[in-house]
Amino acid sequence: MKTIDKIYINGEFTTPQGKQYFDLISPTTNEKLGQVLLGNEQDTKNAIAAAKEAFKSFSKTTITERIQYLKNIQASIEKRREDFIDVMVEEYGGTLQFSTTSFDYMLKSFDSAINLLNFYSFTKTMGESEVQMTPIGVVGIIIPWNSSNGFIASKLSTAIAAGCTAVIKPSEMSAQQTQLITECLHEAGLPKGVFNIVNGLGEIVGAEISRNPDIAKISFTGSTNVGKIIAKEAVETMKRVTLELGGKSPNIILDDADFSKAIPLAIIAAYMNNGQACIAGTRLLVPENRLEEVKKLITEIIPNTIVGNPKNKTTAVGPLVSVKQYERVQNYIQIGIDEGAEILTGGLGKPEGLEKGNFAKPTVFINVNNQMRIAREEIFGPVLSVITYKTEEEAIEIANDTTYGLQAYISSSNEKRAHKVASQINAGRVQINGIGHDPMAPFGGFKQSGIGREFGTIGLEAYLEPKALIR
Ligand code: NAP
Ligand code: MG
Repeated sequence: MKTIDKIYINGEFTTPQGKQYFDLISPTTNEKLGQVLLGNEQDTKNAIAAAKEAFKSFSKTTITERIQYLKNIQASIEKRREDFIDVMVEEYGGTLQFSTTSFDYMLKSFDSAINLLNFYSFTKTMGESEVQMTPIGVVGIIIPWNSSNGFIASKLSTAIAAGCTAVIKPSEMSAQQTQLITECLHEAGLPKGVFNIVNGLGEIVGAEISRNPDIAKISFTGSTNVGKIIAKEAVETMKRVTLELGGKSPNIILDDADFSKAIPLAIIAAYMNNGQACIAGTRLLVPENRLEEVKKLITEIIPNTIVGNPKNKTTAVGPLVSVKQYERVQNYIQIGIDEGAEILTGGLGKPEGLEKGNFAKPTVFINVNNQMRIAREEIFGPVLSVITYKTEEEAIEIANDTTYGLQAYISSSNEKRAHKVASQINAGRVQINGIGHDPMAPFGGFKQSGIGREFGTIGLEAYLEPKALIR
């Protein structure tokens, strides 16, 4: 059993003043893996003070120096590859497949930040004036458990590229993953105070970050509800906010698509990261007159979508992160049944032989209409709703009839047509005939999926304040 009893402030592992312990529970077995000592409000204030002090000199570092720091971090993370993958599998329940991909993306986020620094010009001419893009200040980074170290890497690498310092509050459920990345960051030898990491509760550590006048900007990923709480608090001190919130992403299968490819892809899009993905394609929109074909394909594919121990190479869907998350998903499956949707596959309860962990059955609902709660609310588990449409126009209308707008998916054999449909979808990213990630393109949501964008130039500029020198 592991005890994590240090947080990281001003270049040192230090014992928090907080006295509360939080149990770390295996999602696969529900056995106790360890415990973490949580930081409190004072710990958070200390971390912010260290970041504020460090900002004075870090904001003046050269591009060459920042590139070197990013390279150092990347090198120390790369050395611990197996540890990163193992701890994500063990503590979070990420499948081996997903945790490996996740690690590769995490490493690449440093390349992207370096790449940006190689071409971005921090001084521009606009009108008659010189415009300096200046680092915004101390950044508060608040993140959830579904890709903890991935979020730390992408947000912190952008902050460093911009010349900002940071205070990071991960989910306490990710404490072992956090410990590992903190060790790597420590080894990279950045000036003290550039990054500080405080384990602790959202209502305590997160709330202090949202309130504290020395935080200039918050980069948050998590639920829409908490995003709203943070944004309301942040406005008191005019903090800038980047909010990556939930989604209910539509996946439109056009009638000319190759269904034998599009439907397996739809299952992957729905169940990626055990269904705990903000970008999951959870509303599958199919032509009404092709429903029987879709049902047949889904029924054939699902048995190959192996649910089980995330350590196994062939596992496609692992456990949900916690008992609470499992219960949330069960509740939604019940809601779907009560609303009159029909279960094509899956349903309530745990798959046979997996009773100990937080395993849900990969579930597909048919006879779903877009007004049902299972079609409108983010479930965050392996639950897919199939919705039928009659015309392309109706498909677009249903896709856009949502409070969210993070991502969408389109399958078609006609590239022009897919492009035309994609252009009418209100979402931050639209994936055509595949699932990919472009780290130089913006990522973020329309409507209640968030505010602002991450990645690429737009993502970097969210950490910068423009200053015009008028002469
Ligand atoms: P959450 O409550 O939004 O948590 C995200 C982060 O915000 C965590 O670090 C959390 O700390 C912190 N937080 C909570 N309350 C806060 C407050 N008042 N002020 C500042 N920070 C605060 O998400 P969750 O409870 O982990 O998951 C619940 C649901 O959110 C999921 O079922 C899913 O629908 C959605 N979700 C979305 C994403 C996404 O990627 N868009 C990710 C995760 C979850 P604590 O961990 O201490 O609460
Ligand atoms: Mg929470």
